[in-house]
Amino acid sequence: MHVDLHTHTRYSDGSLTPAELLERAIAAGVDVLSITDHDTIDAYNDDAIRLNSEIRLIPGIEFSAQWRDRGVHVLGLNIDLENTDIRSSIVSQRTARIQRSECIAERLENIGIKDTLQIARQIAGHDSIARTHFAQALVQMNVVEDSKRAFKKYLGAGKAGDVKTNWALLQEIVEWIRSANGVAVLAHPAKYNFTKTRLKSLISDFKEAGGQGIEVISGQQTPDTTQHLAKLCGQYELLASVGSDFHKPGLSWPNVGNVSALPKSCRSVWENL
Ligand code: AMP
Ligand code: MN
Ligand code: MN
Ligand code: MN
Repeated sequence: MHVDLHTHTRYSDGSLTPAELLERAIAAGVDVLSITDHDTIDAYNDDAIRLNSEIRLIPGIEFSAQWRDRGVHVLGLNIDLENTDIRSSIVSQRTARIQRSECIAERLENIGIKDTLQIARQIAGHDSIARTHFAQALVQMNVVEDSKRAFKKYLGAGKAGDVKTNWALLQEIVEWIRSANGVAVLAHPAKYNFTKTRLKSLISDFKEAGGQGIEVISGQQTPDTTQHLAKLCGQYELLASVGSDFHKPGLSWPNVGNVSALPKSCRSVWENL
């Protein structure tokens, strides 16, 4: 079975419409797909998704969460999209995201870069702006050559556009997902650049909060990373998930379905879905 449980569309910071994403997933031979946009389920209202019968779709979301002094991402897989608690939680995350975007623009203006919010909104086509859109705006404005440099100079940790956000706490987010009958999966644990000890604390807190799985595979990764995450998965008795974290075609992100294989020792999250 070819599974990809972590992808983005234009409804957050991906470049494709849901129809284009589906087409690409089918072309890549994906059998089971989840669209997990940042803090939104709007893609699931899109006609292409509502009318889809060609691929098995697992309703999903990627929540931004606060853990200690850091932001981490939690996937809610197989959530009930009609659940009123999760819907109101999404509204509050959206408000936090909009407020943050205004703050990022203000901070950039303070260092002499004007009008980024307007351009970022134009690029996104909606007002739920991610740092990705600011990065694209900075490229479009010729402030930097590419998005990677935009993060390095202006948007990454410790830079002017790295604004502290009042995302909901990790524990709350896991509760929302569970109350919507979903499975809570810690996204790309190796991408936070935590020490081994800190990563264990995160996973331990996540498990204690009711978290059920971790993303053992995120795109194409080194065998060492896979082994490390598979071991943690076993140690904390968590299920294993697999996702490309696809955002757009091209070389900067893995393609839909382009994921390493899950080690045999792992129990996969989709068996229970
Ligand atoms: P946000 O949710 O607004 O904090 O934006 C986070 C998003 O920015 C991630 O989901 C990625 O899509 C993107 N991102 C984060 N770091 C980088 C980076 N170094 N280069 C390019 N994109 C990045
Ligand atoms: Mn993103
Ligand atoms: Mn993420
Ligand atoms: Mn993602």
